[in-house]
Amino acid sequence: MLHNYSIPPKTYFEIASLGYLLVLYLISFNDSNRERIRTYKLFRSLEINMLIALFVSILTYVFAYPELGTPIVICTILRTMDSIMCVMASRIFVVYMLEYVDSAKKFKWIRVFGNAIFGLYLALMILNLPLKFILWYNPDGTYMHGSLFVPIVFSPPVYYLTSGMILLIIRMRTLGSREQLSLTAASLITLFGTVIQAATDGAILLSLPFGSAGIFVLYFSLETADYHELIRSNDKLRIAEQDAIKANRAKSDFLANMSHEIRTPLNAVLGMDELIINEIGPEKIIDDSSVDRIRGYADNIKDAGHLLLSVINDILDLSKIESGKMEINEAPYTLHKLTDEVDTMIRIKAEQKDLKYIQQTDPSIPDRLIGDELRIRQIMINILNNAVKYTDKGEVKLEITSEKVSEDVINLRISVKDTGIGIKEEDLPYLFGDYKRLDEEHNRRIEGTGLGLAIVKRMTDLMNGRIDVTSEYGKGSVFTVVIPQTVNKKLNDGEDESSLKKDKEAAYKTPDCTYLVVDDNRINLIIASKFLDDLGGKVETSLNGPDSLQKMREKKYDMIFMDHMMPGMDGIQAYRKAKEDPENLNPDTPMVMMTANALHGVREEYLEMGFTDYISKPVDINELKRVVRLHIPQEKIVVGD
Ligand code: ADP
Repeated sequence: MLHNYSIPPKTYFEIASLGYLLVLYLISFNDSNRERIRTYKLFRSLEINMLIALFVSILTYVFAYPELGTPIVICTILRTMDSIMCVMASRIFVVYMLEYVDSAKKFKWIRVFGNAIFGLYLALMILNLPLKFILWYNPDGTYMHGSLFVPIVFSPPVYYLTSGMILLIIRMRTLGSREQLSLTAASLITLFGTVIQAATDGAILLSLPFGSAGIFVLYFSLETADYHELIRSNDKLRIAEQDAIKANRAKSDFLANMSHEIRTPLNAVLGMDELIINEIGPEKIIDDSSVDRIRGYADNIKDAGHLLLSVINDILDLSKIESGKMEINEAPYTLHKLTDEVDTMIRIKAEQKDLKYIQQTDPSIPDRLIGDELRIRQIMINILNNAVKYTDKGEVKLEITSEKVSEDVINLRISVKDTGIGIKEEDLPYLFGDYKRLDEEHNRRIEGTGLGLAIVKRMTDLMNGRIDVTSEYGKGSVFTVVIPQTVNKKLNDGEDESSLKKDKEAAYKTPDCTYLVVDDNRINLIIASKFLDDLGGKVETSLNGPDSLQKMREKKYDMIFMDHMMPGMDGIQAYRKAKEDPENLNPDTPMVMMTANALHGVREEYLEMGFTDYISKPVDINELKRVVRLHIPQEKIVVGD
């Protein structure tokens, strides 16, 4: 049987909408990358739902007529589906809108309530099939609306759209103007279509076409690929800005902390110095008791100086590690000597605080190892210093054990246990962060830069080791470092590698040598001259570059120490001028850079420029002796005291 299906005029808007929505769907089809923007997924579901709703609606108005021969069951199903798809479209529309106006899900109940309404609506539509109280077909084929048709079919969409709009108004200030405008326009257009359709009892089918128009507005204002790109770059910028603010804050905290850490020992130096000056007094009479006191003040100055130096060394170490300049220098060493040294240092500190200090080294660990002794010592001292620093009573225990990894390699396990203040569990993840001091409330009294553990962690990593911490707040902590070390099998007991070292460090004098020290700072000249005096030779000094050049023309020296930063001609310029000067009597004299510039990599730079060696300030007397011994003509060295 052939049926004369015709397209009713009231579906023309829907057919047009189906066409343009299909085009829109195809335009927005090809960019999977955009799924990352969370509203886009919902937008796609909205598009698909609207397309299906339009399709079902057109089908319904073309086919759902029993007089055309369509079975009543099919007609009823089509009518039911038509309504369900419309309600679902409005539901998805509002869920989409909520992604903008309530992304933090503060108004969760609106979603829950919306779902409940949708569930109730679905149940009623299904119940309607046997009970026929919303829509149905009479046996003679006439289509009927019950008195509940409008309230049940139109209330959910109207509720969704109005609740969405109310929320939009409430949250308007949290949105950008573009979002405000497009969400308002799209929901008003959709609501408008729905209300007209409801008011005319379905005589004018505008809810879906207007809904589609709303989708159009949304697409071109909020969902195009370039707009998403803009949002993504804005998000990235925002994150970068926050990171920059955080980094800046960390830097300021660090500077504040550092300035405190530097001021404290400086204060001690200046204070003690003042006391020494007072002690000597205008009469310059020093009795025996004054000498003892002055000696005590001088000791304090020395301690403060060492503390200051350790702060600066920490900063340098960290910057070396950060820039990848820190190297691990592996060499043979003797474990028990290392632990003895550490023991001496820490025991004094622990005793000053009335703490018990226990050190246990497993005797089965091979004593002769190959590794970076200096760094291992630094790690041990850092952790032990912390243990003493953060413990007020009880004990600090250093335990060293090992486990065999292979024939030649062991894992050296250094474990430091204290009965101190402990670390809060929530602070543990930040323990190894740069410049990070924890529990500032309680630790304010305790001096520290927050660099120690950051360095320990980096050094351990560099040596392919690992560090673990367990701690109970208020009870104490255990820091365990495990570092692989090579067993020094070749070394037999008779031949001690340190004998070689000892020979190098043996006392010596240079009575026939003449040194020139160039520095614009008189105190530095005094210190360097005093140290060199100890070696026996003559020392001459010069306060600036040109004067030193003049001196080099007048006399042949055995070694020249040159400062870098000097007003006028600096040390490097002086060095170059000296090399070019035909009248210089010292073209081949070893010239050593002696400078406070101790940043990473500078040593290599100075050597590359041609300097014979490099010594950093504050000058360490042993380092100075090492350099002299290395570069002075061997015949001028007299070994022995
Ligand atoms: P600091 O110079 O502040 O001691 P560290 O990097 O060595 O810097 O330590 C970072 C922080 O870790 C300290 O400020 C302290 O809060 C905590 N900490 C380190 N060791 C201990 C410990 N043994 N007991 C308790 N807290 C510790």
